[in-house]
Amino acid sequence: LSKLQLLQRHIRTFPDFPKKGILFRDICPILKDPATLTAVTDLFEEHVRKNYKEVDLIIGLDARGFLFGPLLAQRLGIGFVLVRKKGKLPGPTLSVAYDLEYGKAEAEIQEDAVAPGQKVLLIDDLLATGGTLYAACELMRKQQAEVLGCMVIIELKELNGIDRLKQHSVFSLVQY
Ligand code: 5GP
Repeated sequence: LSKLQLLQRHIRTFPDFPKKGILFRDICPILKDPATLTAVTDLFEEHVRKNYKEVDLIIGLDARGFLFGPLLAQRLGIGFVLVRKKGKLPGPTLSVAYDLEYGKAEAEIQEDAVAPGQKVLLIDDLLATGGTLYAACELMRKQQAEVLGCMVIIELKELNGIDRLKQHSVFSLVQY
C-alpha cells in the first residue's frame, strides 16, 4: 500500500454533518493509526523539502491544523505557530474576520508570533471555500510574513477554495 493509499483509506465520510446536505470528511482515523499519521507527515515533509529550500515557520490553523502542523515542523527542525479562533490567545493579538462554509469566525494570532520577512507555510486539515486559509494569509500579510504556500490533507474541489487563495500555491494530498 502506498502512503497515499493508506491515507485515503483513513478518511471517513459522514453525510449531513454538521448540517443537512454537507458531506463531512472525518480525519480522526488518520490520528488513530500511527502508520498513517507517519505517512501523512512523510508526504508533507517530502513536499516541503522538494519545493522550498528555506522555511522559517509552520503556521497551523485552529483546530485540526494543530494536529498535523507540529509533527511536520519537528521533522523540518523549525517552529510551529498557532492561528486560533478569537479570544483564545493571551497578550497583544492581530485578528481577521471571515466567513465559514457554515457560519462566521475570526482568526487571531499573537502579535509577536511571526517576524517581518519570515518565510511561512500554512497548514490545515481541509480546504473547502478557502475562507479560513484566506484569513490566515491576511494575518500573515499584517505580520509582513512571506507566505510560501498553503498545505492541506484534503481539498474539496467543487468549492473552488484555490480561487480564493489564487495568489498563493495550495498543496493537497487528497482531492474530492
Ligand atoms: P473553508 O474556510 O475552506 O470553507 O473551510 C475549511 C475549514 O473548515 C477548515 O479549518 C476545516 O477544518 C473545516 N472543515 C470544513 N469542512 C470540513 C470537512 O468536511 N471535514 C473536516 N475535517 N473539516 C472541515
